[in-house]
Formats: sequence, C-alpha cells, structure tokens
Amino acid sequence: MERTLSIIKPDGVKKNIIGEVIKRFQNANINIAAMKMIKLSKEQAQGFYAVHKERPFFDSLTDFMTSGPIVVMVLEGDDVITQNRKLMGATNFKEADEGTIRKDFATDIEKNVVHGSDAPETAAFEISYFFNALEIV
Ligand code: ATP
Ligand code: MG
Repeated sequence: MERTLSIIKPDGVKKNIIGEVIKRFQNANINIAAMKMIKLSKEQAQGFYAVHKERPFFDSLTDFMTSGPIVVMVLEGDDVITQNRKLMGATNFKEADEGTIRKDFATDIEKNVVHGSDAPETAAFEISYFFNALEIV
C-alpha cells in the first residue's frame, strides 16, 4: 500500500470542483486517508516548492499557491503515486490526455488544478509537510 499527497490548488477550489476531483479519486478506488482545507502563507508555499526555487516560475507559482484556499489530501492505494499522476494528466494541460483532470479543467500551465507527489521520497516529504501521524487515518 502506497501513499501520495494530492492538492486541489486555489484555481480548482475557485472553480467549485473539489467534489468532482474527489469523485474521480473514489471512482478509481483510491482511499482518502486524510484531508483538510488550508490557506498557505508565502513562506509555507516556498517551503513546499523548495525543489523549484531556482526555476523562473518559482515566485509566480508560490504567489498563485497562496492566492486562496487549497485542499490537501493523503491518498492511499496500490501504485497510487502513478495512478494519481495518470488521473491528473500532464503538467501542461495542452499535453494532457483526454479525460484527465488537467485536460478537463486546467486553463494555464501554472494554474493546473491539482498537485500530486512524483515519487515515494517526495510523497513522504510532502505528506509530513501537511499532516502529522495522528491526522492520517
Ligand atoms: P505538481 O508538482 O504541481 O504536481 P508537476 O509535477 O506536473 O506538478 P512540476 O514540474 O513539479 O509539475 O511543476 C510544479 C508546478 O509548477 C506545476 O504544477 C505548475 O503549477 C508550475 N509550473 C511548472 N512548469 C511551469 C512553467 N513552465 N510555467 C509556469 N508554471 C509552471
Ligand atoms: Mg511536481
């Protein structure tokens, strides 16, 4: 059983598709082991995206991620890191497969509705960034 961190980004929350995204996880038999809505500070967003701090889009990305509430979730299931990334679609919605969350709802390479951890090591870091052990059921 694997775990991954999912985020419904501020654009997804504003578009009122929290339920739609959760429905897609549940339809794929992915278990939600933890969930909360929060609003990040700039510093918290910078810490979360620290791996991207040298990228040209870092400042814009961290501004965007603090622009409104987000929903953070721990997803659980077999091969869930890869499974979630398949449901999300490519970073750039223009390259995302039909039927993926980003293809259906993203409007921008930055404002791409969802985040998902990309490997077991990043999943462990990202889950512990938002949840302590007592918050994961
Ligand atoms: P995420 O980490 O959010 O799940 P990802 O792994 O598909 O997405 P990354 O390469 O890790 O993509 O980039 C992190 C986030 O930074 C992207 O989801 C997107 O919001 C933003 N981003 C990535 N590339 C660009 C870009 N060229 N211009 C603007 N924003 C970008
Ligand atoms: Mg990433």
